[in-house]
Amino acid sequence: MNKGGSMSTHTSPRRLAALVGLGLAMASGAGAESRAVAVRCGRLIDGKTDEVLKDAVVLVAGERIQAVGAGLAVPADATVIDLGRSTCLPGLIDNHTHLLLQGDITAADYDEQLLKESIPFRAIRATVAARTALQNGFTTLRDLETEGAMYADVDVKTAISRGIVPGPRLFVATRALAPTGTYPLLGYSWELRMPEGVQIVDGADNLRRAVREQVKYGADWIKYYSDRRYYLKDGVLRSWVNFTDEEAKALVDEAHRLGRRVAAHAIGRDGIASALRAGADTIEHGDGLDDETIDLMVRRGVYWCPTIYVGAYVAEGRAAAGAPIWKTMVDLERQAFGKALRKGVRISFGTDAGGYAWTEGQAREFSYMVRYGMSPMQAIRSATSVAAALLDQQDNLGALEAGRLADLIAVAGDPLTDITELERVRFVMKGGAVVKRE
Ligand SMILES: [Zn+2]
Repeated sequence: MNKGGSMSTHTSPRRLAALVGLGLAMASGAGAESRAVAVRCGRLIDGKTDEVLKDAVVLVAGERIQAVGAGLAVPADATVIDLGRSTCLPGLIDNHTHLLLQGDITAADYDEQLLKESIPFRAIRATVAARTALQNGFTTLRDLETEGAMYADVDVKTAISRGIVPGPRLFVATRALAPTGTYPLLGYSWELRMPEGVQIVDGADNLRRAVREQVKYGADWIKYYSDRRYYLKDGVLRSWVNFTDEEAKALVDEAHRLGRRVAAHAIGRDGIASALRAGADTIEHGDGLDDETIDLMVRRGVYWCPTIYVGAYVAEGRAAAGAPIWKTMVDLERQAFGKALRKGVRISFGTDAGGYAWTEGQAREFSYMVRYGMSPMQAIRSATSVAAALLDQQDNLGALEAGRLADLIAVAGDPLTDITELERVRFVMKGGAVVKRE
């Protein structure tokens, strides 16, 4: 790739913006030719503190932020990007997505994608989803399993990091793990050999081997399904636990031994408790959280991705398909959210995008978080500094701060008075390169 050989120091800002939009920007450390970029922000929310800076400047050198401050001096030769009438924020992070999935309200929707779409076709669609996410201001995703598309998430990640297609930074989980008989496709004749939405594994030793295999092929995270078959008993959301304690502990232990952390899909109380006994690092969905499991999460520093919007989005369809429990789960999650917030659980933004169509927009999650009790600033932090800490990327991502990667978005209004502003992102910079400017 052209690392800027054709770009003189006299390149106009417009031309520079066009070049970076094409992914032709100079990489960091490209030397004297790399001009500083100064982003002027009318208001600036840094993703870490409660303070809102007025008339701030973000100085960017290469792919990183050099300085942030109000009234900062702009170097004479810097390229200026004027967002003086906008609010700047760090690039958003969504810690629960499925790029290889394009909406699955019902089991039939899900099965159709696995039965009628090849993995190459699904990977092509994933690149479109990735572009959509980036255009909507999401500069980083933790993509939590490919739903039957094998290791295609690693390929999408490679294509993005090499600049072949535009997209967010990806942390990928590859195939996810579940035992025999617990995960779609299910319900077909025993004479048919059907595709699986996960890697089916039974037994502690086999789970260790599966984790090693996933890491070998590029898994940044290990994802597993802790439970299924959710039901209400005495006001508590219960569930059937998938793995024995011995199996789940072997899975988590092997992942940790290999320097990977573990995301557990856990919706009912039983599945959440099992995942916490096993040592999982993040709880996904978690509708059935109660005082005991919440206290344990706070003590152990376990993160929670509540994925509220998708629950509300699929509830009607799944209830109509004969599973009314999904409507009850929406109410239960709202109660759990309030409790977890009061007790100080680390709540990370996570949407399950892909579980609903990518065109819906991941940022709708924010208004649910605020409606359920977060301040707009807390909701913003859940998708910036808190989400970056979940990823162990607190030195690189999640804040507009000197030294971190220059992932920056802007909206026209004030998201602290109207959180839905985040659904209308006007400007996106990823690693110092402008990828959207309206
Ligand atoms: Zn999911």
